[in-house]
Order: sequence, then C-alpha cells, then structure tokens
Amino acid sequence: MAGFTGYRCSICGQEFGPDDAQYTCPRDGGNLDVILDYSRIRRGISPGDLRRSPDTSIWRYLPLLPVQDPGHYRTPLRAVGWTPLFDVQPIAGRLRLEKLWLKDDGRNPTASFKDRASAVTVARAQEIGAEVIVTASTGNAGAALAGMAGAAKMPAVILAPKTAPPAKIAQILIFGARVVLVEGTYDDAFDLTIQAAEQFGWYCRNTGFNPFTAEGKKTAAFEICEQLSIASGEKSSAKERWLTPDAVFVSVGDGNIISGLHKGFKDLLELGWIDRIPRLYGIQSEGSAAIYNAFKAGSEDIQPVSANTLADSISVDLPRDGLRALRAATETGGAYVAVPDSAILGAIAELGRDTAVFAEPAGAAAYAGLLTAVEKNLLTEGDRVVVLNTGNGLKDVARAMDAAGEPLVIEPTLEALQSALNAELK
Ligand SMILES: *Cc1c(COP(=O)(O)O)cnc(C)c1O
Ligand SMILES: [Zn+2]
Repeated sequence: MAGFTGYRCSICGQEFGPDDAQYTCPRDGGNLDVILDYSRIRRGISPGDLRRSPDTSIWRYLPLLPVQDPGHYRTPLRAVGWTPLFDVQPIAGRLRLEKLWLKDDGRNPTASFKDRASAVTVARAQEIGAEVIVTASTGNAGAALAGMAGAAKMPAVILAPKTAPPAKIAQILIFGARVVLVEGTYDDAFDLTIQAAEQFGWYCRNTGFNPFTAEGKKTAAFEICEQLSIASGEKSSAKERWLTPDAVFVSVGDGNIISGLHKGFKDLLELGWIDRIPRLYGIQSEGSAAIYNAFKAGSEDIQPVSANTLADSISVDLPRDGLRALRAATETGGAYVAVPDSAILGAIAELGRDTAVFAEPAGAAAYAGLLTAVEKNLLTEGDRVVVLNTGNGLKDVARAMDAAGEPLVIEPTLEALQSALNAELK
C-alpha cells in the first residue's frame, strides 16, 4: 500500500493520482496500470524477507500490492494463491523442453485463477468503503467474487450469461451472492454491469475495467519466480534474486490474466529481483480469437469477433484488456496461438492422464497451446516452460465427459466384469 502512487493509461500514457481515477482512463477509456514506488518497496522488503514469511497465500506479497491488509484471517480470502507448481518432467522430455512445470490454479478457494483478482478487489472495496460489489462474469469471476466477498461479509451482485456452466452458477448461489443471468453474451453482461454500478453506486470489479484485477493476478508471476527459486534448492534465504522460466503459457479471453502476469514480471524486474522477463504466450480458442487475429496481422487494432467456443471462460467478443494482453506477448518476445476446441478437449484428457491435474476447458487450452507451439517450432530445446491451469475441471463436468468418453456399465457379476475388462484392454 505504501508503494501505491497512482495510475498510468495504457493508451495515452497520462498519469493520475490514486484518487483521480477509478476504473479506465477518462480521456480514452484505456486500461490503467497501477503505478508503484519501487524504491520505497525495495527499502521495505527483500526476497530474503519473503523467504521467511509464514504466509502461504497472495498476501505474502502485500508490500507489492496497492491495497491494505484486508483482515478476515482464517477465511478463504486468506487462502488465495500459493498454488502448487508441479514438475511434469516426463512431458518435458516428450516435447524436447529442458523443463516443464504446471501451475495449478484450479486449487484456489473457489477453484479458479479469478480468486486472485477478486481477493484484491474486495480489499480495495473495503478500503474505499463500498457497500456492494458487482461484476460481470462468464462464471469464474462471479464465483470468485461471491466467495471472496462472502468471506469479507460484503454483499455481491453477479451478472452472467444464461449459458454459464451450472457448477459456476451453483457456486455463486451457495456463497450467498445475488446472481442475475442475462439473455445474452458475457459482453452484454459486461456493459450492463458498468451501467448498474454507476446507477446504484456499486463498486465494479469487471475484469480489466477495474485496475485492481491485474494487480491481483500479477501475484501468480511472483509465485512462479519465488517457487522456482525454492525448487532450485539453493540456499535462497540469503539470495536477493529469484529465478525465471523462459516462457509462460496461459489462456486468454479478456486478456487480463496475461497482462497481470506481465505486470508482475515488470514489477520484479523494476525491483531488481529478477534479471529478465519470460516470453509470454497467449492461447485463444479459434472460436474466440480477437487478440490472436491482431497479433497475426501485426496490428494493435483489436477487432471484436462473434465468440463461439466450448471453453466458456475465454469466450469473449471484445477483449476488455486486449491492448495490454497483446503487448504482453509482443514486448516479451512471446506469441499468440489459436487452438481448435477439439484440441482443448484432447488437452483436458491428456493433462488428466499424464499429470493428474483436472482442468476445465479454458485451463487446458494453455496446454493445447503449448503442444501447438512446439509443433510450430516456436520454442527451442533448452526452454524452461511454465503452463498455467487457470480453472478446475469440476467447474464443467459436461465438457470433461466429452473429453473422457463414457464409462462402462455392467451387471454386477464377476463374469460381466471380466468380459468388460477384456473388451476394454483390446
Ligand atoms: C477468466 C479465465 C481465463 C481468461 O482470463 P482473461 O483475463 O479473461 O484473459 C482463462 N481461464 C479461466 C479458467 C478463466 O476463468
Ligand atoms: Zn488515456
């Protein structure tokens, strides 16, 4: 908090004081980057201090966040982040990569990466004395906000498309938020939410629109670097630098996760805690590929599409953080990759079988993108790569069954079991 000094527009570069802007740039609607006072942060904390922190959540990085400690200890709000970074070396060998890690954000309190953004926006909402917090969502952001606001005892309103997977809607209802389903797309819900927030005086968490969502999401970049350093086994308590992978793969809808990761790595570079930023690869479904299209055209002009993909969490007509998301790849030497829905279903099954991680379609899309990138020779043999799974497979069981196929059903006799197993082995 001590380091939070204002905002900078990602389009026109105009800077605003902490109280002079709330959501996007008043001049051109550009997404706002939070500005931090790095020398002040550097004087207050070091990687060595963090190494000794007993906090295994995003809140271990509080000195690097633009919010105050939200309190609510021993609640799910304090259990967000510090998700495992699995070493999946057998796949690395197959793909001719030096190293491969899978960071499983499906293990967050409400089972998606969105908890990171929702926790930090709830902290912000408390700080500014908001009474109600609202968000548009394809499902996960809503579940995450419902869970985090619930932990903080703050009323939440969620607007989602009617087509959102039932498990996500159930989560929102169970956490006691008010959910309203719209006959329309996520994009329709997004615009309606902004109007409602203004009309009713609610605080709006909308992804990308609210500058604090990326600040929550950047914590995954911090964790990747700190966890890699710990895993390297060096006596890191004295070390003042963290390790970085060469490349990070993540799926992209609005583009706020990838731009949040980019911000996190930029923060660390500014602090001098890492010495370079990994190449960032954004993965989109071919059916929802607005940013990929711009990347391929070599343009920063992101045109809306009419999204149609089974990966509901990345089904977006007009990405709300598109420019920063595009630059996350172009400025780091990464790329955008588009994958068909069939490859996403295949990736759910392969990840489950090979790593014992159960991903929802949008989560598995990142892995499908890695496979495509390897095929297209976008990576080199010595690369050390992190793939992010952004959502748990239990979020969308119907798609998981599409990926896995139907189980056998038999009469309860040994004979039937024997012949079923024999048939299965053939
Ligand atoms: C929201 C979400 C994404 C995409 O994040 P954006 O910030 O919209 O790009 C990817 N995977 C899952 C599971 C999500 O919920
Ligand atoms: Zn601007």
